[in-house]
Amino acid sequence: MNADPTAVSAPMIAARTVSLDNCDREQVQYPGAIQPHGALMTLRESDLTVLQVSANVDALLGAAPETLLGQNVARVLGEPLAEALRRAVAERPLDGPPEHLMHVRLRTEGANRAFEAFAHRRDGVLILELETAGRLNPADLSGLYGEVRRCVARLQATRSTQAFFDAAVLQIRRLTAFDRVHVYQLLDDGSGLVRAESCADDRTSYLGLRFPATDVPEPARRLLGRLWFRHMPDAAYRPAPLIPELNPLNGAPLDLSHALLRSTSALCNRFYLNMGVRATLILTLRKDDRLWGFVGCHHAEPKAVPHEIREACESLAHMISLSMSAKEEAERAGEALSVRLWSERLIQQMAQEDLYHLGLLRSEANLREGLDAAGAAIRVGEGLTLLGRTPDAPEIAALCRWLETQGDFFATDRLPELYPPAEAFKTVAVGLLAIRLAEGSGHLLWFRPEQIHEIRWAGDPVKPVEIDARDGLARLGPRRSFDIWRQTVRGRSRPWLAHQIEAAAGLGQAMRVLHRAERLARANRTLARCNEELESFAFTAAHDLKEPLRGIGRYSERLRQNLGNALPEDERNRLGGILRLTRRMDELVDALLNYSRLGRAQLSLRPADLNLVVQEALDFLRPRLDAADVEIVVQPNLPVLLCDPVRIHEVFANLIANAVKYNDRSLKRIELGASAGAEWTFYVKDNGIGIDPAQCDAIFEVFRRLHGRDAYGGGSGAGLAIVKKVVELHGGRVWAESTPGSGATFFFTLPDTTADVALLGQRNAS
Ligand code: ADP
Repeated sequence: MNADPTAVSAPMIAARTVSLDNCDREQVQYPGAIQPHGALMTLRESDLTVLQVSANVDALLGAAPETLLGQNVARVLGEPLAEALRRAVAERPLDGPPEHLMHVRLRTEGANRAFEAFAHRRDGVLILELETAGRLNPADLSGLYGEVRRCVARLQATRSTQAFFDAAVLQIRRLTAFDRVHVYQLLDDGSGLVRAESCADDRTSYLGLRFPATDVPEPARRLLGRLWFRHMPDAAYRPAPLIPELNPLNGAPLDLSHALLRSTSALCNRFYLNMGVRATLILTLRKDDRLWGFVGCHHAEPKAVPHEIREACESLAHMISLSMSAKEEAERAGEALSVRLWSERLIQQMAQEDLYHLGLLRSEANLREGLDAAGAAIRVGEGLTLLGRTPDAPEIAALCRWLETQGDFFATDRLPELYPPAEAFKTVAVGLLAIRLAEGSGHLLWFRPEQIHEIRWAGDPVKPVEIDARDGLARLGPRRSFDIWRQTVRGRSRPWLAHQIEAAAGLGQAMRVLHRAERLARANRTLARCNEELESFAFTAAHDLKEPLRGIGRYSERLRQNLGNALPEDERNRLGGILRLTRRMDELVDALLNYSRLGRAQLSLRPADLNLVVQEALDFLRPRLDAADVEIVVQPNLPVLLCDPVRIHEVFANLIANAVKYNDRSLKRIELGASAGAEWTFYVKDNGIGIDPAQCDAIFEVFRRLHGRDAYGGGSGAGLAIVKKVVELHGGRVWAESTPGSGATFFFTLPDTTADVALLGQRNAS
């Protein structure tokens, strides 16, 4: 399927050196000759002097080459054409593909012919091409516009990429009346695939055939990548060489890349003739600005396509290039969406289960079919669940051990190549997609069986060269046979598509999160149980300590009363010490009891006016406040919130008592207030001794004191731990900020329940 008849000339190369490289180095843009369905001249741009002509000017223009060279174009081709050229030079860029100048009839002594004139600039000269291809009459021309519009509408109406290509070949065949029109895609390995075809009934179909990479060698690809179409009206032509062969302005061969008439190589022409093709039109298809393939039009008889139709086809090729990407993307987006929805459904199912992987099993078929797999396996810890067609349990266990070394995600369509033991179970698992849950915790696996795949090659893909029997040299020549070579591809499954891989990877990520969440939930449950046990132990221990403690206190007191005066002073003091320590111990046990009771307590929530709660706390502490002569500033209008007022009273009482206690100023001042936000933040601020910021967290631990046992009036060190517990039971937080020496501020938050309070109020009122 030689896309571009210009592809390669037939190099004679020693057999051992034959490779595609030889072909790839061909300089196809410098053939030094043209196809003879037109004449070509190069002109000096400044004065339109003829520099080179094609040898067929004799036949087409009735003038010998030597009579034209060195002449002004106006003299040999007439003033109207020279004027059109001058205007084109002045008004158009001319550096791209040839531009149509005019329809011109040239009458000379030897000839009287009509031409379509084209011009473009290359290598510092103007290239003038006079093509004999004929043109449409005005009636056909106006019909052509409507035809193209209808083509575009039909193409746009298609729903799938395949239907789009099918419509494209049909429409282009209608427009051009070629025997065969096909869409040829250049694949990544260099070979080509006929994706769609419309052909006359008596022609063999090439649909679905693969063509070896040598059929469109690299230089031909490069050239095709720069053009939108190539036309060859008759492959059996005799090239017309340029005279002189080299550009006289620079002594170099002329670059004919863009020339409409550029000659193609004998090799390629023979290739086409072998295929029974006389005329071709190639329309380039691009995707993301790169050559993607082309629409190839073939005809069994010579056939010249008028330039208006060629241009219409060129526009269609532009449109196909743009739309096919959009069609493919839309198609892929549809598939990708359904796989994404599948994975989201699975994630949802997993999230609803305590043991998340059980969510995967809710619909067995769904788990496999979402990724179009024949089997799946879920391995969590020692448990293994097999769904559909899978390797057996020991094989999966060994595979999972190997997968541990392959990271969190793994996908292949050729497992035995990477993991040789898979050879044993290739009938069920050659394709593998695997997700690791967490290191050593398990895998989720999908399997696809080997799919023995046949490629139908239009020619031997491994022997593109022929050895010439006469001289023993290899010629990179056209194949004489288009018999179909069948190649069987083994050891592969259907490949995993990008959106399937993406969905599985997304699922893997979600599963790893769920896996961690499950582990965390388990750890939290254990922690909560331990906490409960600890609290109940503390409560029981404290409770049980009270009794003997009371006994020690009682006995010591009695001893003091009965023997006190009889004892020597030393012993009396010791007895006093026992009594003091017993009281201290009693205080501590009380604090511990109080604290551990809190963990078991239920809050009694009700609407509470915090103005009253604060006031009651101040009243409770009144004697201490009056004794210390404290100035108290309370912000008015504190909120009414749902809380346990007895407990919150305790919080304020603790914080206010500390604010007075840890304050050695003569003018003590305490401020209390609150601010609204997403939650209510309360504060108790003092101007006391302050706290080292490094200790601001530690002071909330139970029995944690920053000072000596009796300093600042002593204390058990449980007050702030109780504050913290009460606040947290309410769903709030507590913290302290301080600059040592300037005072401390204690903050705590309570959820904003003002709306609930209002609702309750309404309900009670009605
Ligand atoms: P206690 O007051 O019985 O020692 P707390 O739990 O109430 O126990 O307080 C813990 C420690 O935090 C106190 O020993 C004290 O060092 C420090 N502290 C608490 N409140 C203040 C405050 N307002 N200013 C400075 N230090 C404070």
